[in-house]
Amino acid sequence: MFSKLFGSKSSAKKSVAAKAAADTSRKPSAKASASKPASSKKSKPPRAKKAPKPAWSLDKFPVPEKEGLTRFHDLDLPLSMMHAIADLGFEYCSPIQAAILPHTLDGLDAVGKAQTGTGKTAAFLITAICDLLAHPIDDERYTGEPRVVVIAPTRELVMQIAKDAEDLTKHADLHVEMLIGGMDYAAQLKRVQRKVVDIVVATPGRLIDFMTRGDLRLDMVEIMVIDEADRMLDMGFIPQVRRIVRACPPKDQRQTLLFSATFTEDVIRLTEQWTIDPVRIEMEPDRVASDSVDQKVYMVGSKDKFQVLKNILKSDDVTSAIVFANRRDQTRWLYERLSKSSITCGMLSGEVAQQKRTSTLKRFKDGNIKVLVATDVAGRGIHVNGISHVINYNLPEDPEDYVHRIGRTGRAGETGTSISLACEDDAFMLLDIEELLGEKIACEQPPLEFMD
Ligand code: AMP
Repeated sequence: MFSKLFGSKSSAKKSVAAKAAADTSRKPSAKASASKPASSKKSKPPRAKKAPKPAWSLDKFPVPEKEGLTRFHDLDLPLSMMHAIADLGFEYCSPIQAAILPHTLDGLDAVGKAQTGTGKTAAFLITAICDLLAHPIDDERYTGEPRVVVIAPTRELVMQIAKDAEDLTKHADLHVEMLIGGMDYAAQLKRVQRKVVDIVVATPGRLIDFMTRGDLRLDMVEIMVIDEADRMLDMGFIPQVRRIVRACPPKDQRQTLLFSATFTEDVIRLTEQWTIDPVRIEMEPDRVASDSVDQKVYMVGSKDKFQVLKNILKSDDVTSAIVFANRRDQTRWLYERLSKSSITCGMLSGEVAQQKRTSTLKRFKDGNIKVLVATDVAGRGIHVNGISHVINYNLPEDPEDYVHRIGRTGRAGETGTSISLACEDDAFMLLDIEELLGEKIACEQPPLEFMD
């Protein structure tokens, strides 16, 4: 199973680095050409030198050993990585990190069945960052040639991954860029050309735009990460993903990490095409869901649903909530009616422009709006701690979406509540959800005060 040799990756690195050095047609790195003439500097009066900050050391991050848990200290990570992990307050590896990191840090390919909330993002980012730190490139590098590429299906997810990558590289000399559609191409291009980029996180469409216009090349990629492969399939992105994979070095000359919440036959076929003897890790979603979320199902006639929703949102228990609907038009309808009922809310769905989505999410994170109304796709990338309630205005058709939805609450050691409003049209979907969760969810009438 673990037949991939460590040597194959480092020799691949040597060959790609040599290729870059030989190709003089490309633009030299901004780093290399950015020095200003000395005469352009203004002279300033001498300032008293600040005392240098004491170097960070592992003594500042004591974590006791605990039976059954893996500490990041046990993985022999570089100090700058440990410093970033300490800043984030992570003490022990999550189960997927403990299972996957010992293999991926050795350069093996991996396929993970895991959804958001398991810590998979840090698992692949720590792998990639440690590899970059362990194999610095001394030769001259070029702009627009990342060493790591991460692709994910939605803009929100890409933004979250890029933010996590920034946090994890905070103390390392590595540069992260994010490429997403719906935002100004020229501004993104300017950033990409500004300096050598190490890690690119992108949605497939925008990455292809960059490749087609010759603004980015993937032939120096050493690690490629494909996140939410099942969602890429659902959203019809696979032809684009194939193009991206083809633009990277072949699979015996790169490390490939692929994650998917579900493992359909199509996903399995892709993993076979794109990876070599991968380590396979599966995290069961049911445990993520039911441990920290109190799940309720209220049986409500379809004509009473809105009234019940409004009363729930106005109750004191609800400090911050996401309301999920299955379709964009339902999301808009709910947003408009809730706003008319004096509930401060925002809307996240595919019909909302990216900038507006970003500002809405920020206002929600900052506590300036109490309620977000979202579709499943837009809701995937919401990583906000402290959400007290998730409300399913209708039950999702795909039971996996139910698990994703309720996982927006009960995060980071807190507990949360999910309330599903099931009516005659969607109550039958509960069976599949219960089967996936491996448990029954009690159905009840809503408390009387919510019916008024
Ligand atoms: P993800 O599954 O990647 O969406 O991560 C879910 C959340 O868990 C994120 O908010 C991470 O910051 C957090 N997280 C990831 N790894 C750890 C860890 N080892 N300890 C504590 N929190 C973590």
